Amino acid sequence: MRRKLVAGNWKMHGSLSENEALLSGLLAGMADVKAGVAVCVPFPYLAQVQSRLQGSSIVWGAQNVSQEAKGAFTGEVSASMLKDFSCGYVIVGHSERRAIYGETDALVADKFAAVQAAGMTPIFCVGETLAEREAGVTEAVVARQMDAVIAKCGVASLARAVVAYEPVWAIGTGVTASPAQAQAVHAFIRAKVRALDATVAEGLVIQYGGSMKPNNAVELLGQPDIDGGLIGGAALNAEDFLAICRAG
Ligand code: PEP
Repeated sequence: MRRKLVAGNWKMHGSLSENEALLSGLLAGMADVKAGVAVCVPFPYLAQVQSRLQGSSIVWGAQNVSQEAKGAFTGEVSASMLKDFSCGYVIVGHSERRAIYGETDALVADKFAAVQAAGMTPIFCVGETLAEREAGVTEAVVARQMDAVIAKCGVASLARAVVAYEPVWAIGTGVTASPAQAQAVHAFIRAKVRALDATVAEGLVIQYGGSMKPNNAVELLGQPDIDGGLIGGAALNAEDFLAICRAG
């Protein structure tokens, strides 16, 4: 039985004072949450989040990482640096990084490997654009994105990873994939992994991301292959995020 995982992606939001209010609200409301919960925060706030969340059931992490271990890479942050702040998760391959910063499938696979090498769990994002969905190539796109990681790290690496299916057209748009649309892609992802390793497939946590809110979380999280959520906008409000966590 897979345990649901709800992770917040704060993106480039927050301040010391806003984070304090959000974290206090989350900590106060965790008693009746059964799902695993994580928050992925901007780098400068890792120390704050570590100090506020250690000893709690909320895990924290980052939203990006360098594929390089160390060296002359101005502005980059290595996986071992994130590990120094006891990060549990690191998001790799978010569509905003693919689209805005030109991250390729190969680079995402390198980042995935760097996160695992440092002993953390990648939250590996895959998903199609609206044009790709309309062209009928959703499965081909998701398969290509997954194949890059499987080719580099092997299917067994997915036993130490989370996959987040995030249709790009649903991220930050308020347009959510229907539970049936999301379930179909989640089932495709699991079947693809099952063809290589049935045990890894059964244990694989596959989150849905894309305008998940309190009013649609129960139905989405009720689908057989949807094992949690990667939450953007709604993760910035403690009550909304907790409501999604309670649906898990
Ligand atoms: C995300 O950023 O991963 C995301 C799913 O955002 P939102 O929930 O705002 O669509």
